[in-house]
Amino acid sequence: MALSLSDLIKHYDRPGPRYTGYPMPPVWTEGFPQEEVAEALARADADPEPLSLYAHLPFCKRRCSYCGCNVVVSPHYSPVDGFLKSLETEVEMWASHLPNRRKAIQLHWGGGTPTYLNVADLRRTFKLITDRFPLLPGAEVSIEVDPTFLEPDQLPALREMGFNRVSFGVQDLDERVQELITRGQTWDQTLTTVRQARDLGFPGVNLDLVYGLPGQTLATFRRTLESTLELNPDRMAIYGFAYLPKVMPYQRSIPAETLPSPELRLDLLLLAVDILEKHGYVAIGMDHFARPGDEMARAVKEGRLIRNFMGYAVAAGSDLLGFGPSAISNVAGVYSQNEKILTKWERDIAEGRFSVHKGHRLDGEDLMRRWLIHELMGTFELRWADLAKRYGIDGPAHFAGAIEELKEEVPFGTVEVRDEGIFITPLGRRFVRNIVQPFDAYLKKLAASTPFSRTV
Ligand code: SF4
Repeated sequence: MALSLSDLIKHYDRPGPRYTGYPMPPVWTEGFPQEEVAEALARADADPEPLSLYAHLPFCKRRCSYCGCNVVVSPHYSPVDGFLKSLETEVEMWASHLPNRRKAIQLHWGGGTPTYLNVADLRRTFKLITDRFPLLPGAEVSIEVDPTFLEPDQLPALREMGFNRVSFGVQDLDERVQELITRGQTWDQTLTTVRQARDLGFPGVNLDLVYGLPGQTLATFRRTLESTLELNPDRMAIYGFAYLPKVMPYQRSIPAETLPSPELRLDLLLLAVDILEKHGYVAIGMDHFARPGDEMARAVKEGRLIRNFMGYAVAAGSDLLGFGPSAISNVAGVYSQNEKILTKWERDIAEGRFSVHKGHRLDGEDLMRRWLIHELMGTFELRWADLAKRYGIDGPAHFAGAIEELKEEVPFGTVEVRDEGIFITPLGRRFVRNIVQPFDAYLKKLAASTPFSRTV
């Protein structure tokens, strides 16, 4: 069956989870007991594997209209000291529950704008975390950087501390798009920052673009992609804009008529894939691209790619500790998310308890389905023999219903259902969020009421 792009979009363009974890937070329980987190940590303390750490540094100087992050917009620097005191208390609280397990193989700072912090406070943050959770040699130490708010001394300090991967938010280089997203980032800012990172010898320089933004056209996005590639990034992420004005009211300032149609959205993504692949980048999972020699590209080849709440990773611990408001932890089969509102998070910490906004204890079925979904999202294939070896499950029998659902996708050219397993085609990689949905045991109950972003 020869299908047009618009047929594919009509079929696949609907809201759906991003599956950075499984099940996703809408399934989790509000008021999840603190004791569950403490018990999970007691179990995790005996695990010899290293940890992953995430710190959410929520401050921004302004609010970009497209932003989907949990941010605290503060033109004044004064809240930072109190925040860092709370952060130190929180990190100490987690550390005191893990007396035998402190080594970390992955540390990531996101936000917000981590470089909102001045150099002294960047150093203070690094120390308060790594004094309690020392980094192993070879750890991936990464940070998100906004080139519009960066002082000349910040990148050198980060490099000296040991950050080895830096992700620069670019989104789009077109002036009108930058205006519509109220970001105002210039080419010069991007160029200067990337050059500085290269001069400082950061081993990994990532650039993040977003498709589906207001005002984007194929011509403007082509220019953005071509100019960005002149900077020779080691990795690129191409994220779809999550337009959710009901959940994020500030997105209402974006004129709806400036948003690309679903057809153009997919064309923008396909253009990015085409240009990146022509420039020799290897597609990683659903939204990342890497140079063939990059560690992430090698990890895909060797089946070592990991998906967790920070996205795709090469080096990740078996458990993830999240610090700061809204941060997510994943410890010994228990998910928990901190309170999102800064003052609520600070109050919990001041009162000496884990800040738990919501959480979920994964049962055996959840763990098996999470592995399966991440296998499909990371390697684009699932072999029943691997499932049987890992979980002792007869995949075709256990997932007979899901297989029947997937067979309906075969004529769309996105997936192959074979006796040995499920294989997502190169075209299907763009729709992988849809293709894994039959394996989500919760989605049908949730879909109507849950504001997920669109999958295309
Ligand atoms: S700088 Fe980044 S985190 Fe802050 S509002 Fe803009 S997009 Fe959101």
